[in-house]
Amino acid sequence: MNYITILKIIIKMDKLKKLIVYRIDGINYIGSTIESLNSRKWKHNSDCYNVKNKNYNISLYIHIREKSLQIKLIPIAYYFVSNKSRRYAEQYWINKYDSVNNGLNTINAYTNKKLNSEKYYQKNKEKINKVTKQYRKKNKDKYNKYTKNWVLRNPNFYKTKINCPKCNSIVRKQGLLRHQRSKKCKKLMLLHHQL
Ligand SMILES: [Zn+2]
Repeated sequence: MNYITILKIIIKMDKLKKLIVYRIDGINYIGSTIESLNSRKWKHNSDCYNVKNKNYNISLYIHIREKSLQIKLIPIAYYFVSNKSRRYAEQYWINKYDSVNNGLNTINAYTNKKLNSEKYYQKNKEKINKVTKQYRKKNKDKYNKYTKNWVLRNPNFYKTKINCPKCNSIVRKQGLLRHQRSKKCKKLMLLHHQL
């Protein structure tokens, strides 16, 4: 290998973080941390007893408070990971221990972020929409150009047609949601159910 290749690999490795996947002793809960197990344990304890913490009422903390448990984190795996692969590494062990169905994990690790951002959007919908609208108005030309380019790059997006899973009508994929709110779809769906 030449010097540049080696340097590139080293730079990549520098960006990786050491991840510890742990299981809480006696409880089927899988977590992961890039800090030490001790500081993660401290954080669990402080979140568990802090009413203001957004995770105060997750099953894990309710369980710990009810049983007055002293928690102990048992390491089960170590990885060097990027921020992206971190969730996947944790998810592997959540699946292996089945800790969502048979334990105290409430959310799958790799969907975690999506759920949170969706929740955040629902909560702040009006504010976000207002800001987006204002921004679009201000940058109208830029937006139009972007949309135009996007359509050129994705020529089939507006043309793709599919069968509506509810009433079986053929509709544009792009217009499916609007179609499903229409009287036509609801009427046809009722008809299908009666047949
Ligand atoms: Zn339909």
